[in-house]
Amino acid sequence: MSEEEAEGSIQVEDTSEKENIEPPLKKAKLRDDRKSDRLVKLEARLNDILSCTVCLDLPTKSVFQCRNGHLMCASCFTHLLADSRLKNEQSTCPNCRTEINRNICSRNLAVEKAISELPAECPYCNHELPRSYLKNHEEKECLNRPVCCKFKRIGCLWEGPFHKLRDHEDKCDHPSMTGLQLMESLEVIDRNHKDEQDLFQNILNLLSFEKIAINDLQLKPYRSDDFIPQLCYESSRFNALGQQWVVKASVVGNEKSIQRVLTYQLVQKGKVNVNVKFLMLRSPFSDLLIKPEVHQHEFTSDLQESSHHDLVLLDPTECNRMLDANTIKLRMIIFQIPSSEN
Ligand SMILES: [Zn+2]
Ligand SMILES: [Zn+2]
Ligand SMILES: [Zn+2]
Ligand SMILES: [Zn+2]
Repeated sequence: MSEEEAEGSIQVEDTSEKENIEPPLKKAKLRDDRKSDRLVKLEARLNDILSCTVCLDLPTKSVFQCRNGHLMCASCFTHLLADSRLKNEQSTCPNCRTEINRNICSRNLAVEKAISELPAECPYCNHELPRSYLKNHEEKECLNRPVCCKFKRIGCLWEGPFHKLRDHEDKCDHPSMTGLQLMESLEVIDRNHKDEQDLFQNILNLLSFEKIAINDLQLKPYRSDDFIPQLCYESSRFNALGQQWVVKASVVGNEKSIQRVLTYQLVQKGKVNVNVKFLMLRSPFSDLLIKPEVHQHEFTSDLQESSHHDLVLLDPTECNRMLDANTIKLRMIIFQIPSSEN
């Protein structure tokens, strides 16, 4: 490996210095291309081999396998088990139809470890490193990771890459501001803090409701049959509060726009009047961080679809990563509002 790397770096110097000496260079370049091609292909092939056979994503957590060795990510595995429980049927492997359940299926540690060794790209500095190091690198080591000024608490809004932090903090004018000047920023901070507290208090109150349903959803993509096909998502039907529901979503912002947002709506598949509040959270099978927002809708036979709500991500740039995966995994909590509170 080190030999290959050394060869590679010599090759790079060659191209920059003697660009007009064609034949030997071309040969070397071809050889190099083929080599990197082979490496890329191996990684791509491993990606395919180690992906979940249901959602086709590379599992990020545990990997389960059926008796014949077909791999399923933890999310799809629990989803299949829950689906068959809903339909009161035996769960089967979608590939070979053998029975699957928690006793028969085992984890596959070799696959889990192999996945953690596959290269992944740091979104901040574009360096490639083993998947298992990525989190630590993104949070603690990457020189380009986004950070805030330590005087954020007194209102400094500076944000930037880690390697510029020292420089900024040395020059930051917030520590030398007067109390009077700081009051304004402190008030904004207080206000945001209060909004957040109200939200969490609201959620805590909802958690004391009598009827609550928690569902882990997988939204699968499809193209709408509009004149200009749109990327849409839909969950399979799920049971909550004694009724059937689906979640539909679509992407706002066209192929070229940088700022994309997923908007979703809750759709009722029965005809029972029910007034609910609902909340989207991070799925236990995904690392996508979502800003909690409570929405409300009164479902009647004429109004079976809630309005569209944006799925607000803590880091909006994560939207592309979310759309990159083959399924979007989310947890939805639905709270039934008792009729006395209507
Ligand atoms: Zn899966
Ligand atoms: Zn199987
Ligand atoms: Zn990095
Ligand atoms: Zn500052």
